[in-house]
Amino acid sequence: MMKDPERLIKIEKAIQEKYGDEVIQNPKANWDQEKEKEYLQQIKKIAKSEKPKEKIEVEGVLMPKKLFRKESNRTCPKCKIYSFEMKDDLYMAKFKCCYKCYLRLEYTRE
Ligand SMILES: [Zn+2]
Repeated sequence: MMKDPERLIKIEKAIQEKYGDEVIQNPKANWDQEKEKEYLQQIKKIAKSEKPKEKIEVEGVLMPKKLFRKESNRTCPKCKIYSFEMKDDLYMAKFKCCYKCYLRLEYTRE
């Protein structure tokens, strides 16, 4: 009852416009789109940042900044696909796999 479907749709639309349909076509129904958006915004902010820091805080977890660099190893160890999108950096850093693999693993875990 607390959720505002209008707001959720707006957020989804904003993500969709920026990152394509993939983000929205999510098999995990309870995936938190707002949290996703926060991640993406944080990554974008980091990417634009002129003053590089050694560590980046994401969800209270400090991660080496190099994980977010384009030069870093962005080939997913699970699907062997070279990554492409900024958001995959985050999933790679946190879950050691790309966004798609993360969703697949989460989905098949239960
Ligand atoms: Zn993958």
